[in-house]
Amino acid sequence: MNIAVVGTGYVGLVTGVSLSEIGHTVTCIDLDRQKVDKMKQGFSPIYEPGLEELMTKNIAAGRLFFTSQHSEGFKEADAIYIAVGTPERFDGTADLTYIKAAANDIAEHITKQVVVVTKSTVPVGTNDVIQNILSAGTDVECEVVSNPEFLREGSAVHDTFHGDRIVVGSSSEKAAKLMDDIYAPFNIPIFHTNVKSAEMIKYASNAFLATKISFINEIANLCDSLGANVEDVAAGMGQDDRIGSKFLNAGIGYGGSCFPKDTSALVQIASNVDHEFNLLRAVIDVNAHQQALPVHKIKEHFGGSVRGKKIALLGLAFKPNTDDMREAASIVVSQELILSGAEVVGYDPIATENAKKVLPEIMEYADSPEEATEGADAVIILTEWDEIKQLDLGLFTEKMLEPVVFDGRNCFDLKDASKHNIVYYSVGRPSVG
Ligand code: NAD
Repeated sequence: MNIAVVGTGYVGLVTGVSLSEIGHTVTCIDLDRQKVDKMKQGFSPIYEPGLEELMTKNIAAGRLFFTSQHSEGFKEADAIYIAVGTPERFDGTADLTYIKAAANDIAEHITKQVVVVTKSTVPVGTNDVIQNILSAGTDVECEVVSNPEFLREGSAVHDTFHGDRIVVGSSSEKAAKLMDDIYAPFNIPIFHTNVKSAEMIKYASNAFLATKISFINEIANLCDSLGANVEDVAAGMGQDDRIGSKFLNAGIGYGGSCFPKDTSALVQIASNVDHEFNLLRAVIDVNAHQQALPVHKIKEHFGGSVRGKKIALLGLAFKPNTDDMREAASIVVSQELILSGAEVVGYDPIATENAKKVLPEIMEYADSPEEATEGADAVIILTEWDEIKQLDLGLFTEKMLEPVVFDGRNCFDLKDASKHNIVYYSVGRPSVG
């Protein structure tokens, strides 16, 4: 089949590349010409394991193309995917500017019947808005299908090929059948429903996962006060099939481009129909407190002030295996520390360039964990990169005078930590040293 993908961010590029890998002819369209030039040469503008290999392979096979011209991308398309951003606006609602612009681009440039597939996360009812823009802007027949995306950054390629389900919300059998045909080679179960339910499935799923994270973090904070160990608590809870063991890792909360904005958007979607989503408000509130936890703990350790202290942050991306800094805990932590008079040095294996854009000039950047920790008064671990989890704790005694470590991701075993001459704090587990 011939497919166009509008927007080549984490979702659009992975979708386009994966669809080409299963045999479709795909043209990815982005407004950013520099990005398009890079992608034409086989370079991915984002860090995502396995993506570049598949890109170069499918470009060479003549199945994957890139352009900044919508008319060129849409010429032969049987399906056009919308994968543009839906960022959070100042009031928590989803900003649909890019979605509406993409719908207008489609209306302006299509010349043949097409199915428009919305991959972007959009509030319930948005696909009707897209359909209306298309109906008003073109006489060409087109139907809009909701096909929300569930990939996780850092394992996006793997997730696309091994997803638990593909959700398709459509209003005709013809469109549903086209989606079945597109996805058949993936061999993943397809859940069919109507458009609004599909839109809601995405928000409900992200809100549920965020709730699980905030719940275990609240339990972790209680464990801290009561002397229990959240790791054992989560393991014991997770053995109950009704609960499950996933998403029960206590830490410094969720970040990234999805959970924060999608939980806020769902609160707003609910309030539009006079529903106070108090549970989700609490989830958001707990997360905000949790992201600031490292600063409180470190201040407490130093008797209330970090003024003049050198603090090393290990891991800056919002999670491992990505260069994405959107809503990363490192932003809250570094800003708070700097405002409190600390000197902050950050290290990340991949996200440093993006971190510099978000946190310009306020932080020093190191090229290795060794360089970051040299002479530091305290270390805060913010992202559980393998490289960081595999550090020898002896590094801290070697590089720091009186080593203090706050591990916001519970990367290290308490027994291991107790073998070293360090003060080691983590989340919901007894402190060591
Ligand atoms: P992104 O911001 O990384 O990328 C969006 C891209 O779209 C940019 O490259 C931009 O230049 C391009 N663009 C914007 N308007 C355009 C237009 N009219 N024509 C062509 N290109 C245009 O976004 P993302 O992180 O890939 O997210 C996209 C959507 O998918 C969002 O709704 C998001 O909530 C959802 N989603 C994201 C993830 C994730 O992990 N990032 C997971 C699931 C769902």
